Amino acid sequence: MTVVADFKINRVQRSKLEDISLENIPFGKYFTDHMLEVDYENGEWKTPEIKPYQPLQLDPSLAALHYGQAIFEGVKAYKDEDGNPSIFRPLDNMRRFNLSAERMQMPVVPEEIFLEGMRQLIDIDRDWIPAKENHSLYIRPFMFSSDEAIGVRPSDKYKFLIILSPTGPYYANPMRIYVEEKYVRAVEGGYGFAKAAGNYGGALLASAEAQKKGYDQVLWMDAFEHKYVQECGTMNVFFVIGNTAVTPGLDSGTILAGVTRDSAITLLKEQGLKVEERQLSIDEIISAYEAGTLKEIFGTGTAATISLIRELRYKDYTMKFDVENWTIATGVKRRMDAIKYGKETDDFGWLYKI
Ligand SMILES: *Cc1c(COP(=O)(O)O)cnc(C)c1O
Repeated sequence: MTVVADFKINRVQRSKLEDISLENIPFGKYFTDHMLEVDYENGEWKTPEIKPYQPLQLDPSLAALHYGQAIFEGVKAYKDEDGNPSIFRPLDNMRRFNLSAERMQMPVVPEEIFLEGMRQLIDIDRDWIPAKENHSLYIRPFMFSSDEAIGVRPSDKYKFLIILSPTGPYYANPMRIYVEEKYVRAVEGGYGFAKAAGNYGGALLASAEAQKKGYDQVLWMDAFEHKYVQECGTMNVFFVIGNTAVTPGLDSGTILAGVTRDSAITLLKEQGLKVEERQLSIDEIISAYEAGTLKEIFGTGTAATISLIRELRYKDYTMKFDVENWTIATGVKRRMDAIKYGKETDDFGWLYKI
């Protein structure tokens, strides 16, 4: 692996932070003063640069725009009550990023760039991490092919960047979910396990149609039988049946292995629940609902952490839940937040100090 030389750092003259307030800012709209940019060429990564946040100049023939070699990650940094910043489980995001890279025939990004670059960038923009509870700094690492030529083949050149966006409270209202039977997100042998840009473009139509019918999101089903549950929009999904939390397993390669999913599994076990990662059919869900053993359904992801699901619609059948009385999903959220904001000890080694 290439050993990376020192970072090249070029700081802004004046921070944009003077012009904006970090209270109640919407998700993904504002970006910090700096960004990280690194080029890959001739089989090696060049010197990483941290520079003022700015537009990229791209050739119209840019390979990524035509053939979709583009992957990304979503990570968050938090400040504890004393103002000390840390990143939540960034090594797990780095591993997943490099699995996505491999699937899309892109180069691996070494730790000295991915993690050290993220650390240095956040250190420089640390004043942008909101100090309030329910606020955080969203971190978006991404990579795309940058050959300037048309023709379907892996690129010789790539760009890796990290941008940062401060974000306010994410009021995730309990969701109404439509079980999707017409469109599919991922198929065995495909690239559903990768955080690759095309997975999201391809999912927009299903979401739009579900929204037209009055639902917030779709519950994706398997591509062959439309029978087994996969994910809920861009979140992993858990069903609490009796004293067991069931979430779809990762074996099929059709599900994104969420870091929040993994954290939730740990915290559900800590709460004394049994956790099963396995196939779960819509029939089993309906049977449990009718038997009164289906207690809670929730989605997990970095942006909203835990999102409660108050209604599930399958064909003509509607399942409704009284989320007010739920304790399991809300317990997981409370505990996860307490660890992130340094209110409870980081028993699982999830925080990476900056
Ligand atoms: C990012 C993502 C998730 C959630 O992953 P986290 O690591 O928990 O943020 C789940 N499903 C899809 C499709 C995703 O893109």
